[in-house]
Amino acid sequence: MELEKIKGLGPKSIVLFNKLNIYNLEDLITYYPYRYNIYKPVDLNAVNENTSVTINATIETTPKLSYIKRNFNRLSFRVLTEDLLINVTIFNRAFLYKNLDIGKEIMLVGKYTRSKNSFVASEIKLGFLKEAKIEPVYHSIKGLKNIQIQNAIKDAIVKKEKIIDYIPTELKEKYHFQEKAASINIIHSPKNTTEIKQAKLRLIYEEFFIFMLKINYLKKKNKEILGHSKHFEDDKLKFFIENLPFKLTLDQEKATQECLEDLKSNKKMNRLLIGDVGSGKTIVATISMYANFLSGYQSTLMAPTEILAKQHYTTIKNLLSSHGVKVEILIGSQKKSERKRIIENLFNGEIDILIGTHALISEEVIFKKLGLVITDEQHRFGVNQRGNLQNKGNMPDIIYMSATPIPRTYALTIYQDMDTSMIKTKPMGRKEIKTFVKKESELKSVLKSILEQIKKGHQVYVVAPSILETEERNLHDVNHLKESFKMAFKNKVEIEILHGKMKTLEKEEIMNRYKEGKTKILIATTVIEVGVDVKNATTIVIFNAELFGLATLHQLRGRVGRNDLESYCYLISDHDTERLKIMETSNDGFYISEQDFLMRRGGDLFGTKQSGDMVFKIGNLQQDYKILLQAKEDSEMFLNNGCILEEKYQKILKSITNID
Ligand code: ADP
Ligand code: MG
Repeated sequence: MELEKIKGLGPKSIVLFNKLNIYNLEDLITYYPYRYNIYKPVDLNAVNENTSVTINATIETTPKLSYIKRNFNRLSFRVLTEDLLINVTIFNRAFLYKNLDIGKEIMLVGKYTRSKNSFVASEIKLGFLKEAKIEPVYHSIKGLKNIQIQNAIKDAIVKKEKIIDYIPTELKEKYHFQEKAASINIIHSPKNTTEIKQAKLRLIYEEFFIFMLKINYLKKKNKEILGHSKHFEDDKLKFFIENLPFKLTLDQEKATQECLEDLKSNKKMNRLLIGDVGSGKTIVATISMYANFLSGYQSTLMAPTEILAKQHYTTIKNLLSSHGVKVEILIGSQKKSERKRIIENLFNGEIDILIGTHALISEEVIFKKLGLVITDEQHRFGVNQRGNLQNKGNMPDIIYMSATPIPRTYALTIYQDMDTSMIKTKPMGRKEIKTFVKKESELKSVLKSILEQIKKGHQVYVVAPSILETEERNLHDVNHLKESFKMAFKNKVEIEILHGKMKTLEKEEIMNRYKEGKTKILIATTVIEVGVDVKNATTIVIFNAELFGLATLHQLRGRVGRNDLESYCYLISDHDTERLKIMETSNDGFYISEQDFLMRRGGDLFGTKQSGDMVFKIGNLQQDYKILLQAKEDSEMFLNNGCILEEKYQKILKSITNID
């Protein structure tokens, strides 16, 4: 364990660092701050109220410590700063009490209200701050202080012997980039903001350069590879399609044709199927799997969650089993004996279609003749995983399904190694989801409409954000909301909560009770985003909506309106309402995501948490899009010049392709 080398890190804190996905020195030094605290002592006489400022002061009175609740305390005392004697209050710092003696010099950060002569501090440090100081702030979790992360990173920078620089020398010269080691140093302990900008630009560029190098490399490889051309009886397929419970939409038909053409051709299919939530991608996948079956091959479909895998399993089995196709499911929570049976049957070729979760990737899962690999919710599986499942077959065809309607501009970069099919229109009969942006103060009216829906026998989703713990914001959380809703409905409505930290079994039971209609309101973190299908749910309420990207909100909204009932979406937020109002005016996922993209807003809550293609350590696809475009161009040229033979590039490229 490399982390053991770091000063001050014991087994306990190593566990915490691991939770932040930090396992070695490299991870540490590339764990970038998400913002900086800038401390610069000011004269209180000259500051604006309501902005956070830093002052130096001397303690004038012994602090008074009072407990408001068991976990909530307050320190108050007077200090002298310049020529002002002011009242200071700070909450939940009882532990500072014994250090704050009269006459001590301290530095305070907080907000000053002149009329009350009161300073509410958010931070107190012992000693005067002599000159401006910039402090990096890192995403953290409970039990790990920012200063511990800072120190660990500093030590890692000292101990790390080799920092590999991936920007080719010519490009480094062209852009006047500094050495990587210097940038890393600066980003973690900068002297001024200009320095930060330069270092950041360089690190973002490098991150995008590597990313685009991988994408471009995959694209090139994919072009070279021949797959198998598959032969199936068109009549049988036609019969199947004609006997579906519904008629395909034009977009579905087109997407299906594109997939079938790819199956027939001897080129290896590498296709991204993008379609809004509820646009009907599954049927396109199902037809493709049926065609693949008719040509004598096995198929597999991987979903990101068990709930979703089961849903697909039920749908696909219903559609295909009467046509002689054997469909099975493989998920982590199955019994050992069951698992063994499935794996054996798969190997013998007695299973035609295997649906599952990540469990499919396991080494013991061996197909007899795998011809088609489908991955659902593609953006959750990163570029580094694109290769994983296809390994199990001999040049199988690949379809990725994504419910995130990615703007074309994005798609052209991050998915440019693939062909794309888009399903833009939804099946007929779907109503638009009526959407309203509401202030927190208007909650009452929302509760009223919820109750109306419940009285009609319908169900409700409530979504609250869940984020890494920070002390910075007041956010709604599921537990709190449950209590508030219970009170509001006088305990008469069945309410349950669901969040990502629950055990699979527990989640499933909760989901089942909701599906059966026993639970009326499900209060969840964004775990419900992914493909859950409860037709009776007609209302979704999203708290702290400002924290989500519009594309994410749109996906969440897609949990309702899954049949012909009138459906509603309430976005509760006191901030950023202009952006949110786009949701009121449009139900078109492609339009919405394009708008979101154009606004170039900062880190979407989802983006920062989910693993997958959208996650960069320092780059932000929206804000830094121009850098991405440049990196795309540069990496293409670099690749075409045959420069990637160097070992360091070979290493990263090998990790993404198992093709050679
Ligand atoms: P998604 O693109 O989100 O995966 P699904 O494939 O789950 O969408 O389809 C959503 C719902 O629409 C399903 O219940 C499906 O049976 C239904 N559906 C799909 N295509 C059509 C169609 N052409 N006409 C009517 N209903 C359809
Ligand atoms: Mg789906």
